Amino acid sequence: MVVESLPGIFRISLKWVNVYLWKWSDGVTLIDAGVPWQAGDILKAIKEAGFSPREVRRILVTHGDIDHIGALAALKAETGAEVIAHGAEKPIIERTTGRPLRKNLLGALYRPINGVIAALILKPAIVDKTVLDKEVLPEEGLKVVYTPGHTPGHVCYYHPERKVLFTGDLFMHVRGSVRSPYGLFTPDPAGVKESQRKVAALDFDAAFFGHGEPILKDAASAIRKVAPSPLKRRRRLADR
Ligand SMILES: [Zn+2]
Repeated sequence: MVVESLPGIFRISLKWVNVYLWKWSDGVTLIDAGVPWQAGDILKAIKEAGFSPREVRRILVTHGDIDHIGALAALKAETGAEVIAHGAEKPIIERTTGRPLRKNLLGALYRPINGVIAALILKPAIVDKTVLDKEVLPEEGLKVVYTPGHTPGHVCYYHPERKVLFTGDLFMHVRGSVRSPYGLFTPDPAGVKESQRKVAALDFDAAFFGHGEPILKDAASAIRKVAPSPLKRRRRLADR
């Protein structure tokens, strides 16, 4: 199902995960790429939104989890789009390294299973261009916000003028509430908190999540309830 949530911003709502389409002057950009068997559904949704697959010029990746890059290789082949991600995420997307898990017993038990699943069903995709924190992508006008913790090279994409944020999995919006990413798949929880504080300090109205419904108005307040605000942090530091 595809819905134009805001002018030029389409949400492709798949089972469990979202993919977004961002229309710009000379093409469209996909943000994330669903699970491995969803390439056909995503291509169908792109057409339903009124675009041809060849109009997809770029694919921005928030992070290299199987539910966000599953169909990346297939979509890249089908559209000819350039794949863009943070440099720290490149080896995960290209599958030269596995996605790190939480360093605890559960993480140790799940690691081999995770490796087998990825090896069996996840096709690696080449990252054509890496980006850095605060980099502005001229095509979309989106700014990269480096938000490591859930994965080492996780990023959010932020449009300051339109006050729109794509959170990836830094925040999830499940069953009506905003929450942090799942613990087993978050090797650096302190990093997530730090990244959440960074994002909570941004000025935005709409938040588009990797999982769950978007919040189109006053999303920053909903997010600040989960992430301690920089102000609170400053106060806590001052109390010491
Ligand atoms: Zn996810």
